[in-house]
Amino acid sequence: KLHNTILELKGNIRVFCRVRPLLLDNDSSDTDGAVVSYPTSFESLGRGIDLTHNAQMYSFTFDKVFNHEASQEDVFGEISQLTQSALDGYKVCIFAYGQTGSGKTYTMMGNTECPEDKGLIPRSLEQIFQTSQSQQCQGWKYKMQASMLEIYNETIRDLLSPSRPCSVDTSGGPGKQYSIKHDSNGNTVVSDLTIVDVCSIKEVSFLLQQAAQNRSVGRTQMNEQSSRSHFVFTLKIFGVNERTEQQVEGVLNLIDLAGSERLAKSGSTGERLKETQAINKSLSALSDVIFAIAKKDDHVPFRNSKLTYLLQPCLGGDSKTLMFVNISPETYFVGESLCSLRFAARVN
Ligand code: ADP
Ligand code: MG
Repeated sequence: KLHNTILELKGNIRVFCRVRPLLLDNDSSDTDGAVVSYPTSFESLGRGIDLTHNAQMYSFTFDKVFNHEASQEDVFGEISQLTQSALDGYKVCIFAYGQTGSGKTYTMMGNTECPEDKGLIPRSLEQIFQTSQSQQCQGWKYKMQASMLEIYNETIRDLLSPSRPCSVDTSGGPGKQYSIKHDSNGNTVVSDLTIVDVCSIKEVSFLLQQAAQNRSVGRTQMNEQSSRSHFVFTLKIFGVNERTEQQVEGVLNLIDLAGSERLAKSGSTGERLKETQAINKSLSALSDVIFAIAKKDDHVPFRNSKLTYLLQPCLGGDSKTLMFVNISPETYFVGESLCSLRFAARVN
């Protein structure tokens, strides 16, 4: 009974936990002699997850726990209704949270070359285009627009800008402001951001490829930078029923968050320190916002970070939010895993 009350309070916020399989060639599992014990330190019980750290056991309960055996299809099966609801006019946000290497990008994008390994971005898009087509016979016509950006050091970068390749300019390009505004209809408008009309899964796949390329340009010095920035994919859906004149406007936001790992303070100076502070700030702002929404607080501190301000119209209200907390199973990472689970438990 108590449990039901908690679920009601939470409204439209869900938290799923996903533990990736052990990566056998992972160097970090045998540095410092840490013993990899799996699944002894994690027991997947459907909704519960236990973690043993320094002889203490910590138990967490989420809306769903996927263990290392869960396939991309299994995971999508649990979220397909949610992404589908964007076609019905809902505003949907799905986040992947976790330390670098825990499976965020695998969960969101996966390996697009291998059908089985496709993540939930391509799967959601396939489903949305398929359903929108099959609804044509009921009179529905849809128009869709995609945009892709990253937020790095609290600065927005357009990943679909034609002038973007070869630029490592953190300001996002000459004269580009990328300032965030909310219009009178409660929609987010990012000035100068490239927005592309898309009619097929092929077109979006092409854009996703372009975005991935733009993300990795100039990364020799700043390697792994993709894990130091938030990736935000947005699909706006406008639907009109020609027979009933019904109209719907939905938004699907799929967000691959920056790695949540705490960097050793001593090792962080200059750019790295700035990055770390920006990531910490925005992740804790996100947690504060979701926590405030779940508690139905009057004041939700959306303005404390670019990410939460950008997503403001899609968080709270009757919108739907799902957070994946991705976990690395290696004993070596148990401290980070505990932090991630605690973060997720706070917003759950
Ligand atoms: P992150 O984006 O959180 O840094 P990745 O998604 O890049 O982490 O995952 C790290 C590595 O683990 C990648 O090689 C990825 O293919 C692999 N991986 C992650 N999750 C799974 C999974 N559920 N099944 C198989 N391999 C996975
Ligand atoms: Mg990643």
